[in-house]
Amino acid sequence: MSTALNGAVRFVDLQAQIQSLQPALNQAMQAVLGRGDFILGKDVELFEQEFAAYCGVPHAVGVDSGLSALELALRALRIGPGDEVITQANTFIASAGAVLAVGARPVLVDCDDDGVIRPDAVRAALTPATRAIMPVHLFGRICDIEAIMAIADAAGVPVVEDACQAHGALLNGRRAGSFGIASAFSFYPAKNLGAFGDAGMLLTRSAELADAVRQLRNYGQKTKYQHVSLPLNHRLDTMQAAVLRVKLPHLDGWNARRQYLADAYREHLEGLPIRIAPAGAQGRHVYHLFVIETEQRDRLRDALQAGGIETGIHYPTPLHLQPALNELGYRRGAFPTAERLAAHSLSLPIYPEMSLAQVELVAGGIRAGLPG
Ligand SMILES: *Cc1c(COP(=O)(O)O)cnc(C)c1O
Repeated sequence: MSTALNGAVRFVDLQAQIQSLQPALNQAMQAVLGRGDFILGKDVELFEQEFAAYCGVPHAVGVDSGLSALELALRALRIGPGDEVITQANTFIASAGAVLAVGARPVLVDCDDDGVIRPDAVRAALTPATRAIMPVHLFGRICDIEAIMAIADAAGVPVVEDACQAHGALLNGRRAGSFGIASAFSFYPAKNLGAFGDAGMLLTRSAELADAVRQLRNYGQKTKYQHVSLPLNHRLDTMQAAVLRVKLPHLDGWNARRQYLADAYREHLEGLPIRIAPAGAQGRHVYHLFVIETEQRDRLRDALQAGGIETGIHYPTPLHLQPALNELGYRRGAFPTAERLAAHSLSLPIYPEMSLAQVELVAGGIRAGLPG
Protein backbone atom coordinates (compact mmCIF):
# COMPACT_ATOMS: atom_id res chain seq x y z
CA MET A 1 0.00 0.00 0.00
CA SER A 2 1.39 3.38 -0.95
CA THR A 3 1.57 6.03 1.75
CA ALA A 4 1.54 9.80 1.70
CA LEU A 5 5.01 11.26 1.18
CA ASN A 6 5.34 14.71 2.77
CA GLY A 7 1.60 15.15 2.34
CA ALA A 8 1.83 14.49 -1.42
CA VAL A 9 -0.95 12.60 -3.16
CA ARG A 10 -0.35 11.53 -6.74
CA PHE A 11 -3.28 11.53 -9.19
CA VAL A 12 -2.58 7.87 -9.98
CA ASP A 13 0.18 5.55 -8.76
CA LEU A 14 0.87 2.62 -11.07
CA GLN A 15 3.95 1.42 -9.15
CA ALA A 16 2.02 0.23 -6.11
CA GLN A 17 -0.05 -2.18 -8.20
CA ILE A 18 2.96 -3.46 -10.14
CA GLN A 19 4.79 -4.20 -6.88
CA SER A 20 1.83 -6.09 -5.42
CA LEU A 21 1.78 -8.45 -8.43
CA GLN A 22 5.49 -8.55 -9.22
CA PRO A 23 6.23 -12.32 -8.99
CA ALA A 24 3.18 -13.33 -11.06
CA LEU A 25 3.87 -10.62 -13.66
CA ASN A 26 7.50 -11.66 -14.00
CA GLN A 27 6.51 -15.29 -14.42
CA ALA A 28 3.91 -14.47 -17.09
CA MET A 29 6.30 -12.27 -19.06
CA GLN A 30 9.13 -14.82 -18.80
CA ALA A 31 6.78 -17.47 -20.18
CA VAL A 32 6.14 -15.32 -23.26
CA LEU A 33 9.90 -14.84 -23.73
CA GLY A 34 10.36 -18.59 -23.39
CA ARG A 35 7.74 -19.42 -26.02
CA GLY A 36 8.58 -16.50 -28.28
CA ASP A 37 4.98 -16.34 -29.56
CA PHE A 38 5.01 -12.53 -29.54
CA ILE A 39 2.39 -11.97 -32.25
CA LEU A 40 -1.13 -13.39 -31.72
CA GLY A 41 0.30 -15.90 -29.24
CA LYS A 42 -1.35 -18.16 -26.73
CA ASP A 43 -2.02 -15.43 -24.15
CA VAL A 44 -3.92 -13.30 -26.67
CA GLU A 45 -6.42 -16.08 -27.30
CA LEU A 46 -6.72 -16.97 -23.62
CA PHE A 47 -7.17 -13.34 -22.56
CA GLU A 48 -9.86 -12.89 -25.23
CA GLN A 49 -11.73 -15.90 -23.82
CA GLU A 50 -11.29 -14.81 -20.21
CA PHE A 51 -12.30 -11.18 -20.75
CA ALA A 52 -15.31 -12.20 -22.88
CA ALA A 53 -16.46 -14.62 -20.15
CA TYR A 54 -15.92 -11.96 -17.48
CA CYS A 55 -18.11 -9.48 -19.37
CA GLY A 56 -20.71 -12.07 -20.40
CA VAL A 57 -20.25 -11.48 -24.14
CA PRO A 58 -19.60 -14.42 -26.52
CA HIS A 59 -16.88 -12.98 -28.77
CA ALA A 60 -13.73 -10.94 -28.09
CA VAL A 61 -10.98 -9.69 -30.38
CA GLY A 62 -7.80 -8.28 -28.85
CA VAL A 63 -6.51 -5.12 -30.53
CA ASP A 64 -3.78 -2.55 -29.95
CA SER A 65 -5.86 0.24 -28.34
CA GLY A 66 -9.33 1.35 -27.35
CA LEU A 67 -9.42 3.68 -30.34
CA SER A 68 -8.69 0.73 -32.66
CA ALA A 69 -11.52 -1.29 -31.07
CA LEU A 70 -13.97 1.55 -31.76
CA GLU A 71 -12.68 2.13 -35.28
CA LEU A 72 -12.69 -1.54 -36.28
CA ALA A 73 -16.20 -1.98 -34.87
CA LEU A 74 -17.41 0.84 -37.14
CA ARG A 75 -15.50 -0.55 -40.14
CA ALA A 76 -16.92 -4.04 -39.58
CA LEU A 77 -20.40 -2.47 -39.46
CA ARG A 78 -19.53 -0.97 -42.88
CA ILE A 79 -19.93 2.59 -41.65
CA GLY A 80 -18.14 5.17 -43.77
CA PRO A 81 -18.46 8.40 -45.78
CA GLY A 82 -21.99 9.85 -45.78
CA ASP A 83 -22.91 8.05 -42.55
CA GLU A 84 -23.54 9.60 -39.14
CA VAL A 85 -22.64 8.23 -35.70
CA ILE A 86 -24.16 9.85 -32.61
CA THR A 87 -21.90 10.33 -29.58
CA GLN A 88 -21.53 12.82 -26.75
CA ALA A 89 -19.73 16.17 -26.73
CA ASN A 90 -18.07 15.58 -23.35
CA THR A 91 -15.76 12.62 -23.81
CA PHE A 92 -12.20 11.76 -24.71
CA ILE A 93 -11.39 12.57 -28.33
CA ALA A 94 -11.15 8.86 -29.29
CA SER A 95 -14.95 8.45 -29.36
CA ALA A 96 -15.25 10.98 -32.21
CA GLY A 97 -11.81 10.08 -33.57
CA ALA A 98 -12.95 6.57 -34.48
CA VAL A 99 -15.91 8.01 -36.41
CA LEU A 100 -13.64 10.42 -38.30
CA ALA A 101 -11.14 7.60 -38.99
CA VAL A 102 -13.72 5.66 -41.02
CA GLY A 103 -14.77 8.81 -42.90
CA ALA A 104 -18.16 9.17 -41.19
CA ARG A 105 -19.54 12.22 -39.38
CA PRO A 106 -19.68 12.39 -35.58
CA VAL A 107 -23.03 13.89 -34.53
CA LEU A 108 -22.49 15.26 -31.04
CA VAL A 109 -25.15 15.57 -28.34
CA ASP A 110 -25.20 17.08 -24.85
CA CYS A 111 -24.95 15.27 -21.51
CA ASP A 112 -26.86 15.58 -18.25
CA ASP A 113 -25.45 17.19 -15.07
CA ASP A 114 -23.52 14.00 -14.26
CA GLY A 115 -21.77 13.93 -17.65
CA VAL A 116 -23.85 11.07 -19.02
CA ILE A 117 -25.25 11.14 -22.57
CA ARG A 118 -28.91 12.26 -22.64
CA PRO A 119 -31.29 9.75 -24.24
CA ASP A 120 -33.72 12.51 -25.34
CA ALA A 121 -30.83 14.29 -27.07
CA VAL A 122 -29.90 11.06 -28.85
CA ARG A 123 -33.48 10.62 -30.07
CA ALA A 124 -33.56 14.21 -31.35
CA ALA A 125 -30.27 13.71 -33.22
CA LEU A 126 -31.45 10.69 -35.25
CA THR A 127 -31.58 11.28 -39.01
CA PRO A 128 -31.98 8.93 -41.99
CA ALA A 129 -28.14 8.93 -42.18
CA THR A 130 -27.65 7.68 -38.58
CA ARG A 131 -25.79 4.37 -38.77
CA ALA A 132 -24.75 3.86 -35.14
CA ILE A 133 -25.08 5.27 -31.62
CA MET A 134 -21.92 5.35 -29.51
CA PRO A 135 -22.68 6.09 -25.84
CA VAL A 136 -19.74 6.44 -23.43
CA HIS A 137 -19.78 4.99 -19.90
CA LEU A 138 -17.89 8.09 -18.83
CA PHE A 139 -15.75 8.10 -15.66
CA GLY A 140 -16.68 4.43 -15.07
CA ARG A 141 -20.45 4.86 -14.69
CA ILE A 142 -22.79 2.89 -16.95
CA CYS A 143 -24.90 5.46 -18.82
CA ASP A 144 -28.68 5.25 -19.26
CA ILE A 145 -27.98 2.33 -21.60
CA GLU A 146 -31.41 0.71 -21.36
CA ALA A 147 -33.09 3.89 -22.67
CA ILE A 148 -30.42 4.21 -25.38
CA MET A 149 -30.95 0.57 -26.45
CA ALA A 150 -34.73 1.15 -26.69
CA ILE A 151 -34.21 4.23 -28.90
CA ALA A 152 -31.66 2.38 -31.05
CA ASP A 153 -33.84 -0.72 -31.45
CA ALA A 154 -36.86 1.39 -32.43
CA ALA A 155 -34.73 3.17 -35.05
CA GLY A 156 -33.04 -0.04 -36.23
CA VAL A 157 -29.59 1.39 -35.49
CA PRO A 158 -26.75 -0.58 -33.79
CA VAL A 159 -25.18 0.56 -30.52
CA VAL A 160 -21.39 0.48 -30.09
CA GLU A 161 -20.57 1.09 -26.42
CA ASP A 162 -17.43 3.03 -25.58
CA ALA A 163 -16.64 1.09 -22.39
CA CYS A 164 -13.02 2.28 -22.27
CA GLN A 165 -13.49 3.71 -18.74
CA ALA A 166 -15.92 1.14 -17.31
CA HIS A 167 -14.26 -2.30 -17.03
CA GLY A 168 -16.43 -4.41 -14.76
CA ALA A 169 -19.24 -1.92 -14.06
CA LEU A 170 -22.58 -3.70 -13.51
CA LEU A 171 -26.20 -2.73 -14.22
CA ASN A 172 -28.96 -5.21 -13.35
CA GLY A 173 -26.44 -8.07 -13.43
CA ARG A 174 -24.95 -7.10 -16.79
CA ARG A 175 -21.46 -5.74 -17.35
CA ALA A 176 -20.62 -2.55 -19.21
CA GLY A 177 -19.92 -3.60 -22.78
CA SER A 178 -22.56 -6.36 -22.88
CA PHE A 179 -25.53 -4.28 -24.06
CA GLY A 180 -24.77 -3.15 -27.62
CA ILE A 181 -23.94 -5.17 -30.72
CA ALA A 182 -20.30 -4.34 -29.96
CA SER A 183 -18.23 -2.57 -27.33
CA ALA A 184 -14.72 -1.20 -27.02
CA PHE A 185 -12.29 -1.41 -24.10
CA SER A 186 -8.94 0.29 -23.59
CA PHE A 187 -6.18 -1.16 -21.42
CA TYR A 188 -4.15 2.06 -21.40
CA PRO A 189 -1.99 1.78 -18.25
CA ALA A 190 -4.08 4.10 -16.05
CA LYS A 191 -7.46 2.47 -16.85
CA ASN A 192 -9.15 0.26 -14.23
CA LEU A 193 -7.55 -2.71 -16.02
CA GLY A 194 -4.27 -1.48 -17.48
CA ALA A 195 -1.50 -3.03 -19.59
CA PHE A 196 2.19 -2.04 -19.70
CA GLY A 197 1.64 -0.03 -22.87
CA ASP A 198 -1.20 0.31 -25.35
CA ALA A 199 -3.81 -2.44 -25.65
CA GLY A 200 -7.53 -2.79 -26.32
CA MET A 201 -10.40 -5.21 -26.90
CA LEU A 202 -13.51 -5.40 -28.99
CA LEU A 203 -16.43 -7.43 -27.60
CA THR A 204 -19.42 -8.43 -29.69
CA ARG A 205 -22.49 -10.60 -29.62
CA SER A 206 -22.15 -11.21 -33.39
CA ALA A 207 -19.88 -14.03 -34.64
CA GLU A 208 -19.88 -12.38 -38.07
CA LEU A 209 -18.72 -9.04 -36.66
CA ALA A 210 -16.01 -10.78 -34.62
CA ASP A 211 -14.70 -12.53 -37.74
CA ALA A 212 -14.67 -9.27 -39.66
CA VAL A 213 -12.69 -7.49 -36.90
CA ARG A 214 -10.29 -10.44 -36.57
CA GLN A 215 -9.54 -10.04 -40.27
CA LEU A 216 -9.28 -6.24 -40.11
CA ARG A 217 -6.82 -6.25 -37.19
CA ASN A 218 -4.46 -8.61 -39.07
CA TYR A 219 -3.86 -7.16 -42.56
CA GLY A 220 -7.28 -8.18 -43.86
CA GLN A 221 -6.08 -11.76 -44.03
CA LYS A 222 -8.55 -14.56 -44.49
CA THR A 223 -5.74 -17.14 -44.60
CA LYS A 224 -2.00 -16.45 -44.60
CA TYR A 225 -1.10 -13.97 -47.38
CA GLN A 226 -4.64 -13.88 -48.71
CA HIS A 227 -5.75 -10.30 -48.02
CA VAL A 228 -9.48 -9.86 -48.58
CA SER A 229 -10.21 -6.67 -46.62
CA LEU A 230 -8.42 -3.40 -45.75
CA PRO A 231 -4.85 -4.39 -44.78
CA LEU A 232 -4.37 -2.77 -41.36
CA ASN A 233 -2.31 -3.89 -38.37
CA HIS A 234 -4.13 -3.46 -35.05
CA ARG A 235 -3.06 -6.65 -33.25
CA LEU A 236 -2.86 -7.00 -29.46
CA ASP A 237 0.71 -7.87 -28.34
CA THR A 238 1.08 -11.25 -26.62
CA MET A 239 3.17 -9.60 -23.88
CA GLN A 240 0.34 -7.18 -23.03
CA ALA A 241 -2.20 -10.02 -23.03
CA ALA A 242 0.02 -11.97 -20.60
CA VAL A 243 0.13 -8.97 -18.23
CA LEU A 244 -3.63 -8.46 -18.49
CA ARG A 245 -4.31 -12.14 -17.72
CA VAL A 246 -2.43 -11.75 -14.43
CA LYS A 247 -4.43 -8.62 -13.57
CA LEU A 248 -7.98 -9.60 -14.62
CA PRO A 249 -8.72 -11.78 -11.54
CA HIS A 250 -8.01 -8.70 -9.37
CA LEU A 251 -10.32 -6.31 -11.25
CA ASP A 252 -13.44 -6.84 -9.11
CA GLY A 253 -11.43 -6.33 -5.93
CA TRP A 254 -9.81 -3.18 -7.30
CA ASN A 255 -13.20 -1.81 -8.39
CA ALA A 256 -14.67 -2.56 -4.95
CA ARG A 257 -11.79 -0.61 -3.41
CA ARG A 258 -12.46 2.34 -5.77
CA GLN A 259 -16.13 2.26 -4.69
CA TYR A 260 -15.09 2.23 -1.03
CA LEU A 261 -12.79 5.23 -1.58
CA ALA A 262 -15.54 7.06 -3.50
CA ASP A 263 -17.93 6.54 -0.57
CA ALA A 264 -15.24 7.90 1.75
CA TYR A 265 -14.85 10.99 -0.46
CA ARG A 266 -18.63 11.54 -0.41
CA GLU A 267 -18.67 11.33 3.38
CA HIS A 268 -15.70 13.65 3.88
CA LEU A 269 -16.91 16.20 1.32
CA GLU A 270 -20.45 16.41 2.66
CA GLY A 271 -21.81 19.90 3.24
CA LEU A 272 -19.27 21.62 0.98
CA PRO A 273 -20.49 23.87 -1.88
CA ILE A 274 -19.50 21.37 -4.56
CA ARG A 275 -21.51 19.00 -6.72
CA ILE A 276 -20.81 15.27 -6.70
CA ALA A 277 -22.74 12.90 -8.96
CA PRO A 278 -25.03 10.62 -6.92
CA ALA A 279 -23.68 7.14 -6.19
CA GLY A 280 -26.51 5.34 -8.03
CA ALA A 281 -27.09 1.58 -7.88
CA GLN A 282 -24.31 -0.50 -6.30
CA GLY A 283 -21.74 -1.56 -8.89
CA ARG A 284 -22.98 0.73 -11.67
CA HIS A 285 -20.01 3.08 -11.16
CA VAL A 286 -16.44 1.72 -11.00
CA TYR A 287 -14.86 5.17 -10.50
CA HIS A 288 -12.23 5.24 -13.19
CA LEU A 289 -12.41 8.90 -12.17
CA PHE A 290 -13.95 10.66 -9.16
CA VAL A 291 -15.17 14.00 -10.45
CA ILE A 292 -16.54 16.98 -8.52
CA GLU A 293 -18.01 20.22 -9.88
CA THR A 294 -17.29 23.69 -8.51
CA GLU A 295 -17.30 27.20 -9.93
CA GLN A 296 -14.01 27.70 -8.05
CA ARG A 297 -12.35 24.90 -10.04
CA ASP A 298 -9.18 26.63 -11.15
CA ARG A 299 -8.54 28.30 -7.77
CA LEU A 300 -9.17 25.05 -5.94
CA ARG A 301 -6.92 23.11 -8.28
CA ASP A 302 -4.07 25.58 -7.68
CA ALA A 303 -4.57 25.41 -3.90
CA LEU A 304 -4.47 21.60 -3.94
CA GLN A 305 -1.41 21.60 -6.18
CA ALA A 306 0.36 23.95 -3.76
CA GLY A 307 -0.40 21.41 -1.02
CA GLY A 308 1.14 18.57 -3.04
CA ILE A 309 -2.18 17.09 -4.20
CA GLU A 310 -2.44 16.29 -7.90
CA THR A 311 -5.78 16.57 -9.69
CA GLY A 312 -6.96 16.23 -13.29
CA ILE A 313 -9.54 17.81 -15.62
CA HIS A 314 -11.66 15.49 -17.74
CA TYR A 315 -11.96 17.17 -20.07
CA PRO A 316 -11.02 20.86 -20.31
CA THR A 317 -12.38 21.30 -23.86
CA PRO A 318 -15.50 19.54 -25.15
CA LEU A 319 -15.17 17.83 -28.51
CA HIS A 320 -17.18 20.41 -30.48
CA LEU A 321 -14.65 23.11 -29.53
CA GLN A 322 -11.57 21.02 -30.43
CA PRO A 323 -9.63 22.32 -33.46
CA ALA A 324 -9.52 18.77 -34.85
CA LEU A 325 -13.31 18.87 -35.22
CA ASN A 326 -13.53 22.42 -36.65
CA GLU A 327 -14.90 21.20 -39.94
CA LEU A 328 -18.06 19.89 -38.28
CA GLY A 329 -19.10 23.55 -37.84
CA TYR A 330 -20.21 23.47 -34.20
CA ARG A 331 -20.19 26.73 -32.22
CA ARG A 332 -19.63 27.64 -28.57
CA GLY A 333 -22.99 27.38 -26.79
CA ALA A 334 -24.10 24.34 -28.78
CA PHE A 335 -23.88 21.99 -25.76
CA PRO A 336 -24.32 24.09 -22.59
CA THR A 337 -23.98 21.27 -20.04
CA ALA A 338 -20.84 19.83 -21.65
CA GLU A 339 -19.36 23.36 -21.70
CA ARG A 340 -20.26 24.02 -18.07
CA LEU A 341 -18.71 20.72 -16.96
CA ALA A 342 -15.55 21.45 -18.95
CA ALA A 343 -15.18 24.72 -17.03
CA HIS A 344 -16.11 23.42 -13.56
CA SER A 345 -15.08 19.75 -13.30
CA LEU A 346 -12.18 18.56 -11.18
CA SER A 347 -11.02 14.94 -10.99
CA LEU A 348 -9.65 13.89 -7.59
CA PRO A 349 -6.98 11.22 -7.07
CA ILE A 350 -8.45 7.70 -7.00
CA TYR A 351 -6.77 4.32 -7.48
CA PRO A 352 -7.14 1.02 -5.62
CA GLU A 353 -3.88 1.31 -3.68
CA MET A 354 -4.79 4.76 -2.31
CA SER A 355 -5.23 4.88 1.47
CA LEU A 356 -8.12 6.27 3.48
CA ALA A 357 -5.66 8.72 5.03
CA GLN A 358 -4.91 10.05 1.55
CA VAL A 359 -8.64 10.53 0.85
CA GLU A 360 -8.88 12.48 4.10
CA LEU A 361 -5.85 14.55 3.11
CA VAL A 362 -7.45 15.46 -0.24
CA ALA A 363 -10.82 16.22 1.40
CA GLY A 364 -9.07 18.41 3.97
CA GLY A 365 -7.28 20.25 1.18
CA ILE A 366 -10.62 20.90 -0.56
CA ARG A 367 -12.21 22.14 2.68
CA ALA A 368 -9.27 24.53 3.19
CA GLY A 369 -9.17 25.61 -0.46
CA LEU A 370 -12.82 26.63 -0.80
CA PRO A 371 -14.03 30.07 0.30
CA GLY A 372 -16.37 30.54 3.26
C1 LIG B 1 -9.06 5.76 -22.98
C2 LIG B 1 -10.28 6.02 -23.81
C3 LIG B 1 -10.37 5.67 -25.16
C4 LIG B 1 -9.22 5.22 -26.02
O1 LIG B 1 -8.36 4.33 -25.51
P1 LIG B 1 -6.85 4.21 -26.11
O2 LIG B 1 -6.50 2.83 -25.67
O3 LIG B 1 -6.05 5.27 -25.46
O4 LIG B 1 -6.94 4.32 -27.58
C5 LIG B 1 -11.58 5.83 -25.80
N1 LIG B 1 -12.63 6.36 -25.18
C6 LIG B 1 -12.58 6.76 -23.89
C7 LIG B 1 -13.80 7.34 -23.27
C8 LIG B 1 -11.40 6.61 -23.18
O5 LIG B 1 -11.34 7.04 -21.90
